[in-house]
Amino acid sequence: MSTTTSVPAPSVAPLSEVLPADPTLLMGAGPVPIPKEVARANGIVINHLGPTMDAVVARVRDMAGYVFQTRSDKIFGLAAPASGAMEMAVANVCWPGRKVLSLTIGTFSARLAEMASNVGADVIRLESGDVRQPVSAEQVRRELERQKVDVVTMVHGETSCGVKTVELPEICRLARSHGALTIVDAVVTLSAMPMPMDDWAIDVCFTAGQKALSSIPGVSLCAFSPNAWRAVETHAAPRPHWCYDAVRAQKFWGEHQYHYTAPTSGILALHEALRLVTEETLERRFARHELCSTAMQAGLEAMGLELFIPQSVRLNSVLAVAVPDGADGARVRDRMTTQFGVEISGAFGLNIVRIGQMGEQCRPANLLRTLEALGRSLVAEGASLDVDAGMATLAGKLAAGV
Ligand SMILES: *Cc1c(COP(=O)(O)O)cnc(C)c1O
Repeated sequence: MSTTTSVPAPSVAPLSEVLPADPTLLMGAGPVPIPKEVARANGIVINHLGPTMDAVVARVRDMAGYVFQTRSDKIFGLAAPASGAMEMAVANVCWPGRKVLSLTIGTFSARLAEMASNVGADVIRLESGDVRQPVSAEQVRRELERQKVDVVTMVHGETSCGVKTVELPEICRLARSHGALTIVDAVVTLSAMPMPMDDWAIDVCFTAGQKALSSIPGVSLCAFSPNAWRAVETHAAPRPHWCYDAVRAQKFWGEHQYHYTAPTSGILALHEALRLVTEETLERRFARHELCSTAMQAGLEAMGLELFIPQSVRLNSVLAVAVPDGADGARVRDRMTTQFGVEISGAFGLNIVRIGQMGEQCRPANLLRTLEALGRSLVAEGASLDVDAGMATLAGKLAAGV
């Protein structure tokens, strides 16, 4: 038997050759920088079954209950991006014959509608009619009065355009009073601003590691209320997913039995991210995010830039900034990365750039470096701005704590 291979081995230099010498500061819409405790935990592999993992799982569920502000014990971690958690949320309470009302503002709210449609539900899409506005509670009330709806889906923070569903508590309470379950995407808001699952009558809520939680990509969380769990249990077989089946996930997360090999390093990283939130407390974390984001917004405006979303519905955790006349957004972002080592995000189809204000992004040194990089890059690319005025405003607001 020949031991030679027909596909030759490529010549690949160590990773250090592709990675920048100094890590790029990730100030876009995610992934975001991670604390050292999270990085350290992510470097450890433990067995996915046994007493050590059981203890880790119990602690993760306990801390997640605090972060989601829920007393429900149906909280699951997934080896998946946020879209996987979205898939778990949708596929377990939506099925053929169910009517789903999907509040659609941008990319991620539309993804929820698409997933509901893919599992065979009858989906009605409800839009505000303006990319800068969320769907209102009044619009939802009219729909719920017109027809019987089983599930309402929505995002709390729509990352693609920087809009916040500000009437989310009213919408979820309305849905509950009409006998409909709610699915809420809290990927960029959970732990960055108030999002109390039980108080707001949310039935299924999910988040991912790499956004507001400041953990690694690839490990997410999904929580079900007792109401939602009753629906999950009535879902007739066959269920469309195996990995994302909540009943199977409960075997591992609730009963310490094998479902699939859990991403143990990722769950340890998530443990540390949740522990840091718990240690900081939600109240202080919300205040830090509010302070940093409003200071950044003031700095951007003082520099002469325009925030794309009106203040009343603006999402604080992902800021959409209009690209000023004379500059090209892609070239500006490229310059920020190569000259300043700072990355922010572009957008799908809108002439904006997006700056993340989540977790470790909300630290004064990171904000100052980002605003300077953006301002100087815009000027170099032809925009007319007062960079120094913007920096003075940001520094002043951060120092004053307002
Ligand atoms: C990023 C994001 C997602 C999708 O996250 P993936 O991990 O890429 O699947 C979903 N919803 C919102 C609001 C997001 O910001």
